[in-house]
Amino acid sequence: MRKPILAANWKMQKTIPEAIEFAEAFLPLVADAEVDVVIAPPFTLLDRLGAKLSGSGIALAAQNVNPNESGAFTGEIAPGMLVDLGCQYAIVGHSERRALYGETDALVSQKAASLLNHDIRPIVCVGETLEQRDAGSALSVVAEQLRGSLAEVASDRASEVVIAYEPVWAIGTGRTATPQIAQEVHESIRSVLGDLFGAVGGEIRIQYGGSVKPETVYDLMNQPDIDGALVGGASLDPEAFSRIVHFEREGSQ
Ligand code: PEP
Repeated sequence: MRKPILAANWKMQKTIPEAIEFAEAFLPLVADAEVDVVIAPPFTLLDRLGAKLSGSGIALAAQNVNPNESGAFTGEIAPGMLVDLGCQYAIVGHSERRALYGETDALVSQKAASLLNHDIRPIVCVGETLEQRDAGSALSVVAEQLRGSLAEVASDRASEVVIAYEPVWAIGTGRTATPQIAQEVHESIRSVLGDLFGAVGGEIRIQYGGSVKPETVYDLMNQPDIDGALVGGASLDPEAFSRIVHFEREGSQ
């Protein structure tokens, strides 16, 4: 049984007072949640927001990491530093980092392995562009990204990994993939995970990401291979993200 995991990716948004205000509004709304809830704020908020979330059951995540232990990497953050701040997860290979900062599958795979060495669960993002989808190569592109991005992940740690399928054309565009389109890719991801890790592949949680809203989350979560959501825009608002966390309630409306 895979426990649903709803994660917020705040990207480069919110100041400390804004994050504290969010937490004060959000925590009472999700106090009874029976799913895994994760918030990935900018690095600058990890310490203060982490203190605010302490004891709530909500996990803290980073949005990136450098795979090295320490050294001359100006501007970078090492996995051990994230451990210091209480991070339990870190997003790696987000399409914005792949497109804007040239992150390759090989680097994403190093990051994932390094995080696992520090007992931080990587949320590994994959997803095709609109051109790739229109060319009919979405499944093969995602499979290749997955194999490359998980190349250094050992089978005995693979169950701790979370995959986020985020079609690039759906991120921040308001254009969510239909549950059927998302399920088709998730099913294919599940099969690649089975090839890579055997039975453990069935334990790995696969999130969908791309303009998820309270209005769309229920139908997405109802698909057999969709185990969660990675949410950008709608996660900035405590009320909207709490409705996403309580996705089951959205179905009865
Ligand atoms: C994201 O960037 O991970 C994301 C899914 O963003 P949005 O929900 O805004 O499309």
